[in-house]
Amino acid sequence: MRDRSIRAVYTVILTTVASLALAGPLQAQELPRLLPDDLFRRNIGGEGQMDARFAPHRVMDNIYYVGTGSLASFLITTPQGHILVNSCFNRTVPLIRESVEELGFNFEDIRIVLGSHAHGDHMQGDALVKELTGAQVMVMGDDVPLLQPRNPADPMPPIDRMLYDGETVSLGGEVLTAHRTPGHTPGCTSWELDVQESGRTYKALINCSIGVNPNYQLYQNPDRPTIVEEYRYSYAKLRSLDIDIPLGSHPGMYNLEEKFPRIGQTPNPFIDPEGYRYEIAINEQAMGLRLEEQRAAAAR
Ligand SMILES: [Zn+2]
Repeated sequence: MRDRSIRAVYTVILTTVASLALAGPLQAQELPRLLPDDLFRRNIGGEGQMDARFAPHRVMDNIYYVGTGSLASFLITTPQGHILVNSCFNRTVPLIRESVEELGFNFEDIRIVLGSHAHGDHMQGDALVKELTGAQVMVMGDDVPLLQPRNPADPMPPIDRMLYDGETVSLGGEVLTAHRTPGHTPGCTSWELDVQESGRTYKALINCSIGVNPNYQLYQNPDRPTIVEEYRYSYAKLRSLDIDIPLGSHPGMYNLEEKFPRIGQTPNPFIDPEGYRYEIAINEQAMGLRLEEQRAAAAR
């Protein structure tokens, strides 16, 4: 509720700025002061949301939402089988399967499994989906080390194809571009694809996440000395893409709750280039605030 009203205020400000023909780079003072912890809580959602199925629905064209209340999973259908983006936790896989079937598709027709980034809430279920469907698992190379089992006795993750920044994944005439948007993880991957509606083509992007987890060390991190530069690289890269339909690894990243009741209306509620820019700006600000906090703490 609070996020929604903050967003509404922000929208008014942005509209006012645009109408005054002063539209320029967003000023920090125009944004609500949200810290990484606020955005993290927004993404994770309330109690139980993570493990409760969210009503499966069509976003646009052949992109469908098959995730939970706070873990996004997308089914991209093609005449030659389907692509699943985010298997989520092992325990989420049966929920995803139910949603896929409720939409009238066969779970066994999943041919390719992609992920946002190598954290358990997005990619733990990859091996299980592969086992159930025979799908190929494709992972951005920079995230492969994170997928290695901590216990050498545990099985290796199934990786059928390693991806590099800018590569494409194709199936049944559908083409997805893998944009490496590092920071949240080194191989964090944002997936871009074209979708059609009413004779127009729109650019959709499943944003990997540009969030800073509450436990992340940004200032002088010996294990990831370039983490701040990685985030900055990703903000710039995401800004350079002309996205009409922002999606993300958590539905809070594109305000699904607010858009969901408007499904079926014209224009399609998922067309939201302003929301796309807001998500980049609010995360960039939060990263900067956390970096300053850590820098100040180190100086004391
Ligand atoms: Zn994550």
